[in-house]
Amino acid sequence: QGAQKFSGIIEDCCCDYETVNRLNEEVLSPSLQDLVRTPFFRYFKVKLWCDCPFWPDDGMCRLRDCSVCECPDNEFPEALKKPLQHTLSSNDLVCQGENPEAAVDRTIDTKSFRGWTEVDNPWTNDDETDNAEMTYVNLLLNPERYTGYTGPSARRIWEAIYSENCPKYLSGESCPEKKILYKLISGLHSSISIHIAAGYLLDEATNTWGQNLTLMYDRVLKYPDRVRNLYFTSLFVLRAVTKAASFLDQADYETGNPVEDLKTQSLMRQLLYNPKLQAACPIPFDEAKLWKGGNGPDLIQEIQTQFKNISAIMDCVGCEKCRLWGKLQVLGLGTALKILFSVNGQELPLQILKVQRNEVIALMNLLHRLSESIKFVHETESAVEKNLGKH
Ligand code: FAD
Repeated sequence: QGAQKFSGIIEDCCCDYETVNRLNEEVLSPSLQDLVRTPFFRYFKVKLWCDCPFWPDDGMCRLRDCSVCECPDNEFPEALKKPLQHTLSSNDLVCQGENPEAAVDRTIDTKSFRGWTEVDNPWTNDDETDNAEMTYVNLLLNPERYTGYTGPSARRIWEAIYSENCPKYLSGESCPEKKILYKLISGLHSSISIHIAAGYLLDEATNTWGQNLTLMYDRVLKYPDRVRNLYFTSLFVLRAVTKAASFLDQADYETGNPVEDLKTQSLMRQLLYNPKLQAACPIPFDEAKLWKGGNGPDLIQEIQTQFKNISAIMDCVGCEKCRLWGKLQVLGLGTALKILFSVNGQELPLQILKVQRNEVIALMNLLHRLSESIKFVHETESAVEKNLGKH
């Protein structure tokens, strides 16, 4: 089985695969790996308990840390209220294969969450200002990896996302606006699958974790589109980060630990104004080309509504750790969409952009996830190529 080698310009973007692989290896991956370990970036504020509004009767709330939802029935689109088509067994609902350390640890670091303006994100469903319902999670203690969450419950989530909220566009579709949401979600899905493959429980009896390359091939590498969408999503998010550079540079990263906080600031600066990045891929994605036609405002409204639904569906993810990373990454994408499509302009002036602390945390952690996925894909491609050369 061979992985396809990708080359040329990434569709609808402004840089090519080779450049992205090189920049990822030399700049993005090393900076982001350090950045997400800093106290500012490792605590994520999240509403974790289950209040799935779409499938109230499937018993999902038997899972740990879930509670039964009594959301008003009239708030959500009819299409999303379809009853479950599969019969669930209780085995489908639990995270199998987890070791006890992997349970979500809600380490509260009150120091990390002070200050910053509180603004709701128009692209997401959770009210980001609703502190009373939020809990704090140390992301370093909860790596995104295999949890054993599979079967009808997991499949139904992806099905609802794709079929109701971001249907695959027809081949030959040339309008980039119509492709964006599907490509972003598919790229995120690829990244989630790659993290499952990169951190797989190889032997339950001995609790041995490692890489599962067959799974990575079967779920992602076998489908060139899924790999392309991963690169697209990464450049889209990177563009949001560079567009918000002046905001992110000036932001308050204080957590009460001056040495660490200075390091956070300096890592951020190294990434935002990296000369290699600026020379080789200054505008990773050109959002200014979009929404130009007369129906631009309607299209943008449509994808905002669809994205909000996807964000609401995250409450239905029946495994707590998957829900944590699902919510974080969807908030990260929502923040990228907010940065790129709420305000026009090449660089955003400080006073215009209103981004919450938690949104910045989600955005940078998402970019880190995507960067690690690209690294893993590229390393696998190179290893396959080397092997083929030997035969
Ligand atoms: P799935 O990944 O469930 O895919 C379902 C269908 O979607 C496929 O059959 C295919 O038709 C289509 N598809 C797959 N990939 C793509 C793509 N990239 N682009 C377009 N279409 C695609 N499991 C864990 O072990 N750890 C986690 O951290 C984790 N996090 C999750 C987070 C979320 C938000 C969700 C919804 C699920 C998560 N899961 C996690 C479950 C995991 O994603 C899979 O659903 C599960 O492993 C079963 O995989 P599968 O092979 O049935 O295919």
